[in-house]
Amino acid sequence: MRNFDTFNTMKKGFSFSQAVAEADRCLLCHDAPCSKGCPADTEPAAFIRKLHLKNITGAIRTIKENNILGGACGILCPTDRLCEKECSAMLKSKNLPDGEDRAIRIGAIQRFLIEYAWDTGFRVLKKPEQNRETVAMVGSGPGGLSCAAELAQAGYRVTVFEARPEPGGVLRYGVAPFRFDETFLKKEIGDIQALGVVFKCNTRIEGEKGAEKLLDEGFSAVFLAPGLWKATPLKPDQVPIDGLLSSVDYLASLRDGRLEQTASQIEGKTVAVIGGGAVAMDCVETAVKLGARDVYLVYRRSYLQMPAEEKEIQSTLAGGLHFLLLNQPLDYFTDADNRMAGIKMIRTRLGDVDASGRRAPVEIPGSEWNLDADIVIEAIGNQAEDDSPNWYPGVETGADKRIKANPETGETSIKGIFAGGDIVRGPSLVVNAVRDGKAAALAIQQYLNKQEER
Ligand SMILES: Cc1cc2nc3c(=O)[nH]c(=O)nc-3n(C[C@H](O)[C@H](O)[C@H](O)COP(=O)(O)OP(=O)(O)OC[C@H]3O[C@@H](n4cnc5c(N)ncnc54)[C@H](O)[C@@H]3O)c2cc1C
Ligand code: SF4
Repeated sequence: MRNFDTFNTMKKGFSFSQAVAEADRCLLCHDAPCSKGCPADTEPAAFIRKLHLKNITGAIRTIKENNILGGACGILCPTDRLCEKECSAMLKSKNLPDGEDRAIRIGAIQRFLIEYAWDTGFRVLKKPEQNRETVAMVGSGPGGLSCAAELAQAGYRVTVFEARPEPGGVLRYGVAPFRFDETFLKKEIGDIQALGVVFKCNTRIEGEKGAEKLLDEGFSAVFLAPGLWKATPLKPDQVPIDGLLSSVDYLASLRDGRLEQTASQIEGKTVAVIGGGAVAMDCVETAVKLGARDVYLVYRRSYLQMPAEEKEIQSTLAGGLHFLLLNQPLDYFTDADNRMAGIKMIRTRLGDVDASGRRAPVEIPGSEWNLDADIVIEAIGNQAEDDSPNWYPGVETGADKRIKANPETGETSIKGIFAGGDIVRGPSLVVNAVRDGKAAALAIQQYLNKQEER
């Protein structure tokens, strides 16, 4: 049996002395630009200043009171385009030689403080008396979790309905475990359970008006955060092929008890991953770590158009990935037993800028070629599941089946039903889902207060 310990576990974060040394680099800006760069208002300027002044519990309190998933965000936020992008230490570095200075490592400090709280048994949030209305969350990803925690702290009785066996959404069944592991997630969810939030796992809200019925069943308000769990296929009418995997199922298989089976499917094989975003990078990096012989990343545009974060791309490159840029997959070919044999491709060049703001790939006539591959993972995009509008038919959705909600409050077209996270924004970030959950929690409280006044 293979040992998957390093695959299933994150690298250690900052030690106490590293975190303090990093906080001591802070320029203590008066206008706190880093805090303005945080979508969830986690207030990095405040917690870094407190750590610098050795007020450790105060620093932890700032994070947990502002962001119940402060640990997850500290690890997973693309900080170089959020809080750290605004860091004055980095702006200063523009006038210095390379390597002289850099942004404060805000995410790493944030992770350290949350882990320090767990290690020392310091609990910031106490279970409040829960004597207010009952509210339902659909989905236990970052959106549902943050909304649940905010409402529970305000005294509401909150039930989270989750289709899968364990809570966490993408944090549990998507992100590669060596980037975000289960032990850490369990502790962070433990902080939410300690607030009195009830989790009903293996409980999919479905069927005609499934979500709307929750209001009839006694819940005073509902927050919809089911995320996007259908991987967009290359061809909508694709027949199943042995060795053709969707990113959603492949990544879930690494975390739902099928790891050994998937590892033996990948080991020694030629794997091609189609896509250029964060999900494709997780697929590539995991396939490399599971011992694939060769891993190709097939992307139809060029390097600069890839939506993935630069540091993710660099870390996959270090793992030995082969880039196949400017190549459009057209179809697959199989052997006589319907096993994947490879991808029919055509080379592309970049044309004019398209609706996405990036230069569009244009196929080069006559440049078709075949890439041999044993396994192909499609990581082209994530979308709402086909049946989703059935269980909230009165809630206005777009052509892409995403929910239309007020971006400030999460209000939908049905009174009492709110929504946020990826199902509203499209594929986004953990910190944005946290922000939506917080905003909806506030709007739900205002809505319920008004109901009480009537
Ligand atoms: C592979 C991958 C890697 C990523 N890496 C990063 C990263 O490094 N950094 C970052 O910031 N973001 C990352 N993201 C994006 C981030 O994870 C998402 O933006 C975020 O998880 C969205 O949160 P959410 O609450 O909207 O939904 P989700 O996390 O998708 O959770 C939704 C939950 O709802 C449940 N559900 C769905 N339908 C129902 C139903 N009918 N009844 C009950 N439950 C239901 C699902 O099972 C799921 O648990 C990544 C995404 C993916 C897919
Ligand atoms: S939550 Fe994310 S963006 Fe906000 S301060 Fe923390 S690491 Fe930065």
